Amino acid sequence: MSTRYALGIDFGGTTIKTAIVAQDGRIISRGSVPTGMPASPEKLLATTADACLRQVEAARLALTDLCGAGIGMPGTVNQETDCVEYANNLGMTSFPFVRKLRDALGIPVTGGNDADLAALGEYTAGAGKGASSLMLVTLGTGVGGGIIVNGKIWSGCNYAAAEFGHMVIEAGGRPCTCGRRGCFEAYASASALTAQAEKKAAEQPDSLIGKVYAASGHVSGKDILTALKEEDAAAKEVFDDYIYYLGLGITNLINIFQPEKLLIGGGISNFGDLLLNPVREHVEKYRYSRYSDRNTQIGIASLKNDAGLIGAAALTGIFDR
Ligand SMILES: [Zn+2]
Repeated sequence: MSTRYALGIDFGGTTIKTAIVAQDGRIISRGSVPTGMPASPEKLLATTADACLRQVEAARLALTDLCGAGIGMPGTVNQETDCVEYANNLGMTSFPFVRKLRDALGIPVTGGNDADLAALGEYTAGAGKGASSLMLVTLGTGVGGGIIVNGKIWSGCNYAAAEFGHMVIEAGGRPCTCGRRGCFEAYASASALTAQAEKKAAEQPDSLIGKVYAASGHVSGKDILTALKEEDAAAKEVFDDYIYYLGLGITNLINIFQPEKLLIGGGISNFGDLLLNPVREHVEKYRYSRYSDRNTQIGIASLKNDAGLIGAAALTGIFDR
């Protein structure tokens, strides 16, 4: 039997990434184009269809060689109507993006939420491979994630599940973009970490992060990582606080779902063991199941930016045995 291929599409805030994925999970060809935002939904659709055609061509394949395409969107995708119900950053509401892309390409196209698909990607070909249940918690600009149960995305009754970032962990706490206060995202996102580091840097100009801040006007995640390695007390104070809230939120998620694996992804996952060890310690101390002999394994996601593309390809069923 000849190798089967699928087209994976990851529609992000600034770029549309495309890839041809083989049935063994390898990406054989990839590309990316700017979304061209701001643009109308029709224009975004045309840009996406064009990027797909060019990707297939670049791989020297024809659309008929593909078993289908999957697309991850930064919003709520209704899989019954193939509509993007709500994508805040794209200014898209109730637009049949997936259906229209299928019409434009003439092959089966399935859509899903980008964070859900990243979780599916990790489950299919990444650090979550072999787990019966998996949660991915992504620490980036916001906090997102996905839940996989027996190989399927748990998306709730309305395709809006797994918004871990909007679980309140500090009643009346920091304001969140969703309108509530004290959301996990306002404490555990990469943006929250750098914002707190900048605050601390301004208060302690003689610290390592203070000097970085004075010279450049900002403190990045990388600056914090460097400062931690240099044992900068101000950076450590900020990071300990961050770990406390991250550990608290992850313990909540584990107490509710008890997944076999929980993976941490997103930019902050580059902190590696510096992040993982204290989070594991926190969870170990506080999880309800601490007396069980079987517990959630906490790890770092392995596919990085490819998780969404592989997860999108997985929607076509290419990896099903
Ligand atoms: Zn929120």
